[in-house]
Amino acid sequence: MPHPTHHAKPKALHSGLNNLVFDDSFVRTLPADENPHNMPRPVRDACYSFVSPTPVSAPKLLAWSDEVGQLLGLHSPDAACTLTANTLSGNQILPSMRPYASRYGGHQFGHWAGQLGDGRAITLGEVVHQHQRWELQLKGAGTTPYSRHADGRAVLRSSIREFLCSEAMHYLGVPTTRALSLVATGDTVVRDMFYDGNPNPEPGAIVCRVAPTFVRFGHFELLASLGEIDNLTRLANYVIQHHFPELGAPSPSCYAAWFAEICQRTAIMVAHWMRVGFVHGVMNTDNMSILGLTIDYGPYGWLENYDLHWTPNTTDAQHRRYCYGNQPQIAFWNLSRLAEALQPLIQDRNALEAGLNVYQETFECTYWEILADKLGLKTLDDEEGQKLLTDVLHLFQRTETDMTLFFRRLADVPIQTTISDEALIAPLIDAFYIDGTLKQSDQQAWMEWLKRYTQRVYQEAIDPLERRQSMQRTNPKYVLRNHLAQRAIEASEGGDTSLIERLLDVMRRPYDEQPEHEELARKRPEWARYKPGCSTLSCSS
Ligand code: AMP
Ligand code: MG
Repeated sequence: MPHPTHHAKPKALHSGLNNLVFDDSFVRTLPADENPHNMPRPVRDACYSFVSPTPVSAPKLLAWSDEVGQLLGLHSPDAACTLTANTLSGNQILPSMRPYASRYGGHQFGHWAGQLGDGRAITLGEVVHQHQRWELQLKGAGTTPYSRHADGRAVLRSSIREFLCSEAMHYLGVPTTRALSLVATGDTVVRDMFYDGNPNPEPGAIVCRVAPTFVRFGHFELLASLGEIDNLTRLANYVIQHHFPELGAPSPSCYAAWFAEICQRTAIMVAHWMRVGFVHGVMNTDNMSILGLTIDYGPYGWLENYDLHWTPNTTDAQHRRYCYGNQPQIAFWNLSRLAEALQPLIQDRNALEAGLNVYQETFECTYWEILADKLGLKTLDDEEGQKLLTDVLHLFQRTETDMTLFFRRLADVPIQTTISDEALIAPLIDAFYIDGTLKQSDQQAWMEWLKRYTQRVYQEAIDPLERRQSMQRTNPKYVLRNHLAQRAIEASEGGDTSLIERLLDVMRRPYDEQPEHEELARKRPEWARYKPGCSTLSCSS
């Protein structure tokens, strides 16, 4: 008989979750809260509090991202693997984990809110795989010293939204935190979803989210606001050493270069939000990642009809501070608050100003390039190019137009000099939210624009195939439209998680045609126009 080891498969670095060895550089390097009690309270002179997840009744793995597993060196788990569900719900703490909740503050809706912190997120530890450090954090794992009056839990609907959107954004090419798993807790969580005095029990869930670090602008703001300058310096040094090592040893000029880098990354992130039509919904400074990643998926939404004033967040319906079109200037405002917090480290105001200028310049330059790419033009820098852009944006006001479909279909508009009006506009008709046909005056306005546009494309003489491919790399076919996530939520609440799987799968290739999934690329159906969860979302999660 052959010796069994001759046939053994090569062993992966980590075979399963429970063999993972966690590092703890954050807790090793930075000061802990000395009070061991898990009670809501102001915490002083610390970057985090040690706290264990509160066990849940019946954890069950509902979804898993294979690619994130691979980043950590993990094989995909057997869906029935209770060990995995136990660990990813916080019921089982592995020997190398030292779980903690981190301490931060933030400006919420333009006002300083003081201490916020991880009220329901608990970090299990860091996994280092292939020279990359990944923090694993359970969202909805129970109360912490930062929970204030809340329960530390998360509902299934908001957890499905975070799980799917983190992954969808990654594959769209938008910098983001990732999601490894979605676990149902078997417990209910009471939420007043519409804030109308009607609380209801809802199924609870926990997402295990993954990023190099979850440090936010608000971490620095809180330390600066309380004069904890030693902690501020230590945290900055930690973040630079572990996450920006290319900047070298901490010094005033290194801090200045670091701030400029944060500004640059934030600009790129927001430019990509604008490209794909993502509206974060709660751009408070506690929801801004120091790495320039999209973080904290709450009442976010996807722009369907192009509307600069749209926000999915009902809490913001009146002032629309965080609506689609405001996102670039809000990111700037948030960076200005970060600049204030970093002043003890970067006393040269000019250096901070220079960082903020990097934001402005990077955003402008990236966004203009994106707009030209979306339109399939070489440049928009001249008067005619700018007019084409402003005119099409006006047309979006005139005819309600689906942003995603419009730009995707624009690649199909025939670039020929002799062509009928009908054939010219035909690829775009589907992008309009109209009942039947366009009004004649609107049709004329569109024809006028399309003729100028096709003329311009013709003059630019870009290879048609190249132009089409480049447009299709910039303009996704599939985005996580609001009603799609809602459909996945409703099916899952009834026990069917197949749509989560399917959406996760389709969103892995958002720029590919995938004809078998055409239905998921359609514009918003009328039933979803005003439906809560589709067009409006509250912060209740
Ligand atoms: P968010 O608006 O989700 O970014 O949350 C703002 C703050 O509220 C953060 O400090 C969260 O940790 C905290 N928070 C939100 N929901 C809960 C909850 N259910 N339990 C405890 N803290 C929460
Ligand atoms: Mg948050």
